[in-house]
Amino acid sequence: MHIMIDILLVVLAVDFGSGLLHWLEDSYGHAKYPLTGKWVTQPNDLHHIDPMAFTTNTWSHSAAVLLIIGALIVAIAWMIGVVSWQLLLFVAIGVNANQIHKWNHLPSNKRPLIVVWMQAARILQSPKHHARHHQGTKDSHYCVITNVINPVLDSIGFWRGLEYLTLKMFGVKKRPEPSWLARQNPNWSTNGKGARTWP
Ligand SMILES: [Zn+2]
Ligand SMILES: [Zn+2]
Repeated sequence: MHIMIDILLVVLAVDFGSGLLHWLEDSYGHAKYPLTGKWVTQPNDLHHIDPMAFTTNTWSHSAAVLLIIGALIVAIAWMIGVVSWQLLLFVAIGVNANQIHKWNHLPSNKRPLIVVWMQAARILQSPKHHARHHQGTKDSHYCVITNVINPVLDSIGFWRGLEYLTLKMFGVKKRPEPSWLARQNPNWSTNGKGARTWP
């Protein structure tokens, strides 16, 4: 019983972590910044404009940034002597966050059967739930692992609060939503082929 509660807490922690990272990636940085522009902001902005584009990426392509973060977490935990099975499970699910997100964009016949079943059983986030992130201003439902944490965070205005604090503490404003930028920049190719021009 104890183990089940631990697993549940780890899954919810990964869900929260996925939302925090997603919010950070969607809200700050710029497509033209060195490193983070190419590896973080461009793929994120592209996902809002063309949600299906990333579904053809391989697992390792989708997991690259998460693998670096996961390795850092394990290395730091090891150095300070706090490695546990819970921490390793957190990292193991965490590096698959983009894969779990990708399943929400694939038609059901392209998803493994066990995934379709886990989504239906609400063990994993359902595609319908994630679709709400892609509506309107795309600034809610940031968590991508389960259906549990998003309604809580969105209803208390958690992300707007973080944006307010970031503005007050660091003077950094959330960047505009990319589909707005896309309309300003007709060169922004979304055909999934060739080079893209980033505003
Ligand atoms: Zn997003
Ligand atoms: Zn998505």
